[in-house]
This record gives sequence, structure tokens and C-alpha cells, in this order.
Amino acid sequence: MGNPPKGILTDQCKAIGKAVETVFVGVPHRLWLWQILQNASRNLGKLSKWKEIEEALRNVIHDTLDPDEFDEAWGLMVEKFGIHDNAWLKETYEIGGRWAPPYWRSTFWAGMQYEAVLKGKVEVEKLFNFNSTHKPPICDKDMIVQYVFQKAYTNTKFLEVKAEYNALKLVSESNTASLSELSVYQAVEKLLKPVWKKKKTFIVLCDKDKGEFSSYCKLFEFRGILCMHIIKIIEFEDINVIPERYILSRWRKNIVRLYEDIRVL
Ligand SMILES: [Zn+2]
Repeated sequence: MGNPPKGILTDQCKAIGKAVETVFVGVPHRLWLWQILQNASRNLGKLSKWKEIEEALRNVIHDTLDPDEFDEAWGLMVEKFGIHDNAWLKETYEIGGRWAPPYWRSTFWAGMQYEAVLKGKVEVEKLFNFNSTHKPPICDKDMIVQYVFQKAYTNTKFLEVKAEYNALKLVSESNTASLSELSVYQAVEKLLKPVWKKKKTFIVLCDKDKGEFSSYCKLFEFRGILCMHIIKIIEFEDINVIPERYILSRWRKNIVRLYEDIRVL
């Protein structure tokens, strides 16, 4: 098509890996997180503590923000369950950079690695379901982010924004510095099922003049959804306009999709 893709997601398969490396030189190649977790169940599922291991594994994947935290939490998990010798686990850890979100939270993957959504084919179809002819889910009109995204986004995507809202009760904020219009906040999130840490602190920057927000969790950069930490600060600062840059065209319900008229013969 003239331009290389920005990234490729495939199953965990050495032959595919080789082919991607040869044909798409320099293009980031990632593995489906959903498939990694399926393989985990296949390779570790017979262990007596599998349910606990699975929960710990999901915590390590989702609650760590960078490779250092990921390594530390992975090591604690392996030690806690005495699973050092599992060959699949060792091999999968060595290629963590290919599948673990903490390695590339600043890269936009449009939610395609959002494991909680990608649980199977039906869920994939839901993810790409732009049909929003159904009544939108209810929203709290006093909450600016809910109000804006209910109007703008497809129902499926709005529910993802709403899920961040539902987690707001777990976050507390404190202002640590203000320099002109730039405010620095600490958003402390209580982790629901702590295996590694009980609380995590995220620095949130808020520039009211420029309408710019950023959170150390990088959820917006990774999934294109404003995270609970930024939402907390937006509500706290009583901001009443959501800048356009945070409302992505790809999920707007009023967007004209050129491929909708293509007929499959
Ligand atoms: Zn955040």
C-alpha cells in the first residue's frame, strides 16, 4: 500500500515472527496478549495453585507501568509460586518486550491489546462494532467526561470510558505543585486485588490553558481512552470543555465510514 504499517499483531508463532521480520523490516511486531494468556492456561493450568497464579499474572501485566516494574513483579510472582522451572514461562518472559504492555505503554494500539476486551471472536466483533443505532447507555450529565463521550462515541467505546469512571472511587488526588497554568497532581489508585503493591501513585499533569493532560499510566496513548487519573483531575479542576484531541475520530458515531458501502459478493 506504499506505506509500512505502524505495527503488526500476530499469534505466538516462530514462523510468523520470522516472516514479519523479513518482510516488514523495522515495523514493531507484537503478540496477542489474549493468546499469551490462553497459552499460560494451557501450560500452567494443571498446577494446583493455577487460579492464584493466573490472578497474579494478570496483576503483573496490568498493574506494572514500565519494564523495570514488570521485571520486579514477575520475579516476585515466580518466587511466590515456585514456578522457576517452567520452560514456557521462562521462554515467554524472555520475549516480554513482544507482548507485555509495560514495554510499550506510550504506543497507540487502539485498544487492540486490551486483554479484558479481547476474550474471543465475539468480543473482537464488539470492539469493531460501530453500529450505534441502539439507545446509548445512560450517563451522569453532571460529569463532563461522561456527557461528552456519550454524545460523541459509539456505545461500545463510551462503555469503556464509563468503566474508567466507575473506578474513580479508587482514586484520590492531591495537588503537589502549580506553575502558572500547569498543575502537577498525584493520583493515588488503590489496587483492587493487590499481589504486588496495594496502592500505585500516578503523576498527572494538567495544563488548563493549553487543554493538555497527561498521566504516567499512559492509558490514553495506549488505548485512546482518558484514564481514571486524568478524569479525576478534570472533575476536581471543574474543567468544562474536553479538548478535541482527546475525542478520537475513529470512535465517533457520526463519522462517515467509506467502507460501509462496500458489498461483499
Ligand atoms: Zn492514568
